[in-house]
Amino acid sequence: VTGLLCYCRAGFEPELAAELAARSLAAGFPGYARTERGSGFVVFFAEDAGALSRALPWRELVFARQKLLLMADLPGLDPKDRITPILGALALAGPDERPAYGTLLVEHPDSDHAKPLSGLARAFGNALRPALRAAGLLSVRDDNRLPRLHVCLVEGDHLLLACSLIGDSAPWAMGVPRLKLHRDAPSRSALKLEEALMVLLDADERARLLRPGMHAADLGAAPGGWTWVLTRHGLHVVAVDNGPLRQHVLDSGLVEHLRADGFRWQPAQSLDWMVCDMVEQPRRVAARMGEWFRQGWCRQAVFNLKLPMKKRWDETVLCLDLFRTSAGVPLRIRARQLYHDREEITVLAMPEVVS
Ligand code: SAM
Repeated sequence: VTGLLCYCRAGFEPELAAELAARSLAAGFPGYARTERGSGFVVFFAEDAGALSRALPWRELVFARQKLLLMADLPGLDPKDRITPILGALALAGPDERPAYGTLLVEHPDSDHAKPLSGLARAFGNALRPALRAAGLLSVRDDNRLPRLHVCLVEGDHLLLACSLIGDSAPWAMGVPRLKLHRDAPSRSALKLEEALMVLLDADERARLLRPGMHAADLGAAPGGWTWVLTRHGLHVVAVDNGPLRQHVLDSGLVEHLRADGFRWQPAQSLDWMVCDMVEQPRRVAARMGEWFRQGWCRQAVFNLKLPMKKRWDETVLCLDLFRTSAGVPLRIRARQLYHDREEITVLAMPEVVS
């Protein structure tokens, strides 16, 4: 393993590179990033990349959709035979166990440049899979207990060979969970909260923390996408926004619409959840979200921080610090730029000790 290969939203490579540099330094494994703006990925080299990877769990990374262990960079391939060099590189760099991998994912970065490679990725996967099985490298049937082998097509003749560990990587191809907009969803924003609940909580937390009859507030709720997602879990929602909500959201009988300022309104009683998608300065949002926890107005929260500025990693660090300080109680905080987040990140906060 020579480095980390992380995928991100195209255009956010400087943020991801800055995050990896700062975090690797703080963890005591300094290294350097290699990337190109718009490419949708960052390679980060460090002397002990395995130890660095353990020090930077995938779940804690904000700008990485996926975290892989890079094994080889194979440029200048003969399009007639890309398989032999892969088998050669795996013989050199791969682990000794057989089979070493439980699944093969042939992917490409999520960039305009690489998108046309999706057809090739599919066809090449179908060709490579039997060759890996014949070599004893890949389990005969998909086995999701073993590490995954990733082939990342950067160009038709250039690929990166990497692997991911179950439990410390996104389980989805390209690090993107496939979600379809439900036809009743009042807005595309609904996908953001759905993805947040899927990515930032594990299955056990979802079952425990999202139960029918719970109470939530949605600050900046109109036209009602996030509120609708919460009602589909059976939660009662106070939806705060001066704008209108879609009628069918109100018809659920679970929603109370309040025309009020989301920065001033506070609940009469402590709520299970608060979610917030108000378009505002991220520092202002972070401070107000902290206030909610300091006052004990909610147990858990999901909120967005819009990042239209240049130094987005610096702003992220500043806002998360501000949030933590203003909350003043121990919190478990997970933040991520989700697939459905454009110039923003989504933050989940919950008590450090979940009873
Ligand atoms: N999450 C919503 C959904 O899924 O449909 C979309 C929210 S939209 C991006 C932002 C909303 O925040 C707007 O409807 C706007 O009226 C509201 N907003 C902005 N500032 C607000 C404030 N101070 N108080 C209440 N709502 C506010």
